[in-house]
Amino acid sequence: MSALANQTRAEGRNFKRKLMDILACPIDKYYPLELHVFQEKEEIVDGVIICPKCTRWYPIRDEIPEMLPDELREEKDDVPFMKKWKDKFPSKIVKEGKPFNLSK
Ligand SMILES: [Zn+2]
Repeated sequence: MSALANQTRAEGRNFKRKLMDILACPIDKYYPLELHVFQEKEEIVDGVIICPKCTRWYPIRDEIPEMLPDELREEKDDVPFMKKWKDKFPSKIVKEGKPFNLSK
């Protein structure tokens, strides 16, 4: 097992929160980003990472943070995710978030 895997295991449930210390927005490189957790078990299962500078949001789905640039994102995947968790998203992001929101 690699040293990183050992470290990941040892840090357990705090791993994703530590990840927030190093993640930057892929569009404007803004840092730090905001983390909103929707569902958490041993790890964060579902949540959203928000860039307060450009109002972009990045889903955490099935424990995987998806930090993709706009051109690699699929509206058909991301809009249903936002609808599912609409009540837990910050309302500003539901109305004005990029690259997709529920205002149209
Ligand atoms: Zn940004």
